[in-house]
Amino acid sequence: MQLTFSRRSKPDFQSEFLATILKANTDPKLVTFAGGNPNSESFPVAEMNAAADIVLRENGVMALQYSSTQGYLPLRQYIADRYRFSDLTVDPSEVIITNGSQQALDLFSAMMIDSGDCVLVESPTYLAALQTLHLYSPEIIPVPLHEDGIDVDALQQIVDEKRPKFIYLIPNFQNPTGLSYTEEVRARASEVFRGRNILVLEDNPYGELRFQGEPAHSFGWYLGEQCCMLGTFSKIISPGMRIGWIVCKQKELLEKMLTYKATLDLHTNIFGQMVMHRYLMDNNLDTHLTEARKLYKHKAEHMISCIEKYFPAECQCTHPGGGMFLWVTLPDGIRGVDVQNESITWGFPVCAGDPFFEYERNVPHLRLNFSNGTDEQIDNGMRVVGEIIRELMEKG
Ligand code: PMP
Repeated sequence: MQLTFSRRSKPDFQSEFLATILKANTDPKLVTFAGGNPNSESFPVAEMNAAADIVLRENGVMALQYSSTQGYLPLRQYIADRYRFSDLTVDPSEVIITNGSQQALDLFSAMMIDSGDCVLVESPTYLAALQTLHLYSPEIIPVPLHEDGIDVDALQQIVDEKRPKFIYLIPNFQNPTGLSYTEEVRARASEVFRGRNILVLEDNPYGELRFQGEPAHSFGWYLGEQCCMLGTFSKIISPGMRIGWIVCKQKELLEKMLTYKATLDLHTNIFGQMVMHRYLMDNNLDTHLTEARKLYKHKAEHMISCIEKYFPAECQCTHPGGGMFLWVTLPDGIRGVDVQNESITWGFPVCAGDPFFEYERNVPHLRLNFSNGTDEQIDNGMRVVGEIIRELMEKG
C-alpha cells in the first residue's frame, strides 16, 4: 500500500534530532545529560498516592466522568492565586488547563499563525517550541540572546522592520542556556512591545526553580493583557501527569483556544487535575520547592566543578541561578554534533546545540541537563565528555 502523507507529517530538523535524544533517554544503560527530566528523587510519590486515594474515595464519579474544556475550577483558582506571589492579578476565568504547557503552545500557535506570518523567538530557543511553530509555517526570526537576556537593540530593529505577530520568550533559566533576563532588559524589551500589535508569549517552566539571585518581573507585570503566560507543574511536581496551563487575558483569543482544544481532546484528564489539586491542598508546595531547589543547586554546582576539572580550559559554560540546564561553548572548530555522537557511544549522551537554532548548524555548543544524574554519574559523564572534546581538538 502506498500512503500519501501530508506535508505537515514530514519531520523537521528538530524532530529528527529529538528522535536520537529520546532513544538515548529510554535506554536504561545510558546515563543521559541530553534530556530535560526532573530528578526522580524529587517526585512526591507517596503524597500523590494519598491524593489519588482521597479523590477516588470522596469524588470518584466526578473524577471518572467527562469534564469541562477549560479545566477543573479549583485547580485554576490555585494557579491564579499563586500569581499573587509575582505581583500579578489573574482570574481563574483567564486560565486554561492544558495537557502540559506544550499543548498550550500549540493552541496559541494554531490560533495566531497563518503561513508566512512573522514570529520572533530567542536564539537559541526551546527546540520543541520551534517544532510546534513549524507546523504552522510562519517566518521565524531569531533574536540573539545574551548573558543578560534578549538583545533589545536587535529586537527593536526587527520589530520595526518585520511587524511580527508575537514573540515567544523564556525569560527565566531558559532552555537551553540556563540564562535569565535582568530586570533592566525586561523593562527595555517591554518598551519595544508597548502600544504595538505584538503579543508576548512568556514561557516559564523553570521560574520556581530559582536557587540563586532575586526574582524579576514577568512580562505580564509590564504588559498586562499584551502578554500570555505559559506555566506547568512538569518541572516542579511531575511531568508524567501532563498538567500545564496558559493565562490569557485576551477574551477573544481565550475563547478561540477553548474551541480548538475541545476539538483536539475535549479536555485535559480530569482525574489527574483533581489529584494534582488534592496534592496541592494537602501539601505545602513551597516546602517541596525548597527541597528541589536545594537539590538542583547542588547538582548545578557539582556539574560546573566537574566541567572546570575535566573540560579543556578553552570551553566555557553558563552559570545558571536556577532551572535544569547549562550551555557549553566549545573551543573554535569543535562541533557539538561530533561531541554528541561520541557521547552516545560512550554511554553518556549530551545534546548538541543545533536543534535550538532555527538556521545555524554545526554550532560549537552543547546543552547539558544537570538535574537528573547522581553525583557519581555527573562526575563520570563530565570526565568522558571532557576526554571526547580533547580528542576532537587533537584530531583538529
Ligand atoms: N517550555 C519549555 C521551555 C520547556 O523546557 C518544556 C519542557 N522541556 C516545556 C515548555 C513543556 O513542558 P510540559 O509540556 O511538560 O509542561
